[in-house]
Amino acid sequence: MIPNPINTHILLKHTHEEVSSNLQDILIVDDTIENLRVLSSILTGEGYNVRKAIGGNMALKVVETLPPDLILLDIMMADLNGYEVCQQLKKNLRTADIPIIFLSALDDVFDKVKALEIGGIDYITKPFQMEEVLVRVKNQLALRTAQKEVHQLNTQLEKKVQERTQQLQKANHRLQEIALYDSLTGLANRNLFIEQLQRSLSVIKLDDNYQFAVLFLNCDRFNIINDSLGHLVGNLLLQKISRALQSILGKNTVLARVGGDEFAILLSDISGVEQAKELAQNILDLLKKPFYCNSQEIFINVSIGIVLSRPDYQDPENIIRDADLAMYKAKSLGRGQYQIFTPEMYDLAQQLLILQTDLYRAVQQEEFTVYYQPIIDLKQNKIAGFEALVRWIDPQKGIISPGEFLPLAEETGLICEIGSWVMKEACSQLSQWHEQGFTDLKICINLAAQQLTRSNLVTEIDKILTETQLNTNFLKLEITESSMMQNLQTSQVLLEKLWQRGIKLSIDDFGTGYSSLSQLQNFPVNTLKIDRSFLKNVDGNSENLGLVPVILGIAEVMRMDVVAEGIETSEQLEQLRKLGCHFGQGFFFAKPLDAETATQLIHDNPTW
Ligand code: C2E
Ligand code: MG
Ligand code: MG
Repeated sequence: MIPNPINTHILLKHTHEEVSSNLQDILIVDDTIENLRVLSSILTGEGYNVRKAIGGNMALKVVETLPPDLILLDIMMADLNGYEVCQQLKKNLRTADIPIIFLSALDDVFDKVKALEIGGIDYITKPFQMEEVLVRVKNQLALRTAQKEVHQLNTQLEKKVQERTQQLQKANHRLQEIALYDSLTGLANRNLFIEQLQRSLSVIKLDDNYQFAVLFLNCDRFNIINDSLGHLVGNLLLQKISRALQSILGKNTVLARVGGDEFAILLSDISGVEQAKELAQNILDLLKKPFYCNSQEIFINVSIGIVLSRPDYQDPENIIRDADLAMYKAKSLGRGQYQIFTPEMYDLAQQLLILQTDLYRAVQQEEFTVYYQPIIDLKQNKIAGFEALVRWIDPQKGIISPGEFLPLAEETGLICEIGSWVMKEACSQLSQWHEQGFTDLKICINLAAQQLTRSNLVTEIDKILTETQLNTNFLKLEITESSMMQNLQTSQVLLEKLWQRGIKLSIDDFGTGYSSLSQLQNFPVNTLKIDRSFLKNVDGNSENLGLVPVILGIAEVMRMDVVAEGIETSEQLEQLRKLGCHFGQGFFFAKPLDAETATQLIHDNPTW
């Protein structure tokens, strides 16, 4: 059929704005103008936006220009029948979704089926009832709207999912960063280091000749920097150290920050221990130069432990453990140096661990006893008092001397508990001796450096003295010169308090602690105990007195008593008497004795 000028006009009337308004847009396709007119007027009356196309070809063009929400499509048309129009629209993605209701006079089951098969959504037979058309149109449009909404919601949802996925990916990335990298220095952290180490271990399994080394670095006295200059400077310093280390390491060498002030280096594919040693030395040299943090000049040393790969290493943690042990060895040998791990270090650490456990048990079960070594008044030739010396009676190992367990006790803090136990025990022993009539005897008790920092020390001593009904005059506390110097200020405050109570104070191992005489003057001290190392060479020959006369001179100027420790021979005793030394202690008089033997000794009232 020839397109009708009127219809063209009708088509042209519909502009984009009109159609894209909220009105639902229906296209009626028929090649009978009358049909078009009737349907159009009714649907327009119902509030729809209606477009019309005369014939199939025009319908395709109209739809192409702007797809409607619904098409009412006649089947029998001259140019292009309804089926063909439908098939073409369904082929095109842009138009495939548009619901099509077929209109036809062909009241035939076959046609209905065909119409639905090729994608029609409904079928109305002519002559139609207008109510039926309206209901069907309305239903289909409602369906279409619902579908559109669902589609829109789906799109929105998809977009949201995509956004969320992206956020999650970002978060995941960040988590990985946190999990594997150190935030302060940007270096690999312990986790990543262990991963790398694991990789090196698997390479060894494939290649016998492959060797690597791990260097474990710990900054020496880093906490002093943190405490005195603040954490911010400490952090800055760590960043600078890590950059300095990076600057001398090769690209394939892994550097990680594995603890507060600890770094680890994985030196891969080396030919032997020399390379690791060389790197360690380079690091030590590098750190000889100062760092500048906030215009502060800071010198920092490191102690380095080195471990070489071995075929029997399975677990990266064991390598780090051994490197750590070697590092500790380097520290104990004076810091600022490197040590190479040996299996003996591990054995020693194991023994220490056992000792530590035993020591905890010993404290709980009070497996200690106090020995007493007499201190002799060399002028009156009688026992002036005793020094209390702790012993550990281990159920299996027997008597263990303090030199073997006190360092560990200090390291674990157990020294304070042991110390107060000794104090109670020794004071109550002295109290018994006083009751037995030996009322002049004094007791000397050693105090560890850590006890000096305990805020409740004075209260504790007060309590013990009250319980044992001892006068403060009979108690003398021995503090080694080095522990006194370790914490000058707190020592001074504490010693002042004890002094005020009338408790006597004595500097133990005098001459070994590098105190200056001016510092010494600030402490309220009654007695200097000359360390026994000064007596070693003293014999009958008065030319071998060494520094002993000097120390006696110092004590005289400072108005202090002197106890000479470690007198082992009568010659030594003679020399000290000649020099006017007031008190002496040593194996020549008696070794440290258990309470019973010491009691026996005072009852025997010996002279020398
Ligand atoms: P110290 O306070 O200097 O005690 C003297 C040490 O020298 C004692 O060793 C004693 O047995 C030893 N000695 C005494 N005369 C001679 C001698 O003529 N020749 C030799 N070669 N040695 C002699 P001991 O009992 O093994 O104690 C060692 C150190 O352990 C003590 O040195 C003291 O610093 C510490 N110590 C002992 N008991 C305690 C305690 O209860 N608390 C604290 N904090 N430290 C203690
Ligand atoms: Mg002592
Ligand atoms: Mg001593």
